[in-house]
Amino acid sequence: MRQIVIIGSGPAGYTAAIYAARANLKPLVIASSVEFGGELMKTTEVENFPGFPDGIMGPDLMIKMQAQAERFGAEIVYDDVVKLELAGEVKKIHLGDGSVEEALTVIYATGSEYRKLGLEDETRLSGYGVSWCATCDGAFFKQKKVAVIGGGDSALEEATFLTRFADVVYLVHRRDALRASAAMQDRAFADPKIEMLWNQGVAHIYGDEKVTGIGLVSTVDGTETTLDVQGMFVAIGADPRTHLVHGQLDLTDVGTIAVDGRSSRTNLAGVFAAGDVVDPTYKQAITAAGSGTVAALDAEHYLADLPAELLARAVAVPA
Ligand code: NAP
Repeated sequence: MRQIVIIGSGPAGYTAAIYAARANLKPLVIASSVEFGGELMKTTEVENFPGFPDGIMGPDLMIKMQAQAERFGAEIVYDDVVKLELAGEVKKIHLGDGSVEEALTVIYATGSEYRKLGLEDETRLSGYGVSWCATCDGAFFKQKKVAVIGGGDSALEEATFLTRFADVVYLVHRRDALRASAAMQDRAFADPKIEMLWNQGVAHIYGDEKVTGIGLVSTVDGTETTLDVQGMFVAIGADPRTHLVHGQLDLTDVGTIAVDGRSSRTNLAGVFAAGDVVDPTYKQAITAAGSGTVAALDAEHYLADLPAELLARAVAVPA
């Protein structure tokens, strides 16, 4: 039995692993079989993570985080969790290879997944003009034309942020009314760089190596037009990856895992949640890393209060 198992290998999971490993808790990180390293593995240059004044490629940052966790004794398993039994003192983590890990604490840091439009070229040109994060990639579009897809708060926030760099920001929405809050709408409508394109869906993304334009189709009469843009930001929502804990952990009304105040404590003792899976608002690598720190410290405090005989059954007892 382990003292701590961390599910997820994005900034939250690896930061939790660094803290737990340095606390001599010998954490096991279940990193996923394919998507290890999280969303940053799919991005190009990260310029806003403190400590890297010249920027760092997203995959390089994740490899460094992993190496830092391993340096202090974290173990990484490249497999998927297929089932969780989280109630009770001993948690059971079922893996894709049929094995079962037992742990006294679990940190659940599975992140969230940006919704995709579902176009073939969206994946091919991801990082080459197609992005899900204006904060991350906006600065690459100085004096360019970009499109933001979506009509919610995220889309308007992305569009407003992009006006710092781009000459023109088209906001492409499938209806004739926005879902976003009134304040965000007022700000966007007042911005001379934002041009609203109502009742439009995206049918194509053009470009061999980089985005050169997108093909729009009217949701009213099917008319097709081409928009000359060098960037397309998809902001149609994100879904926290909570499917493994449905029925076990309480969720908020926006679908994230409910935690107690600023802590990472879920409704089940010994189960902590961190990163985008608890955060509907900030969704940054650095905030996820901070949240992973909170979870590791919460888990450490929880373990310290457990009966000695239970702790003695786990692989590593804190020094
Ligand atoms: P959201 O509110 O669910 O909005 C998603 C938008 O994308 C909607 O306008 C939706 O269109 C559109 N959309 C969804 N699927 C689409 C598709 N396949 N093709 C084209 N358009 C599609 O998501 P969000 O904007 O990410 O916001 C999520 C939550 O975070 C909300 O509660 C929001 O208030 C909050 N948030 C708050 C802030 C802030 O306060 N600063 C910032 C960001 C997010 P329809 O409108 O037609 O459904």
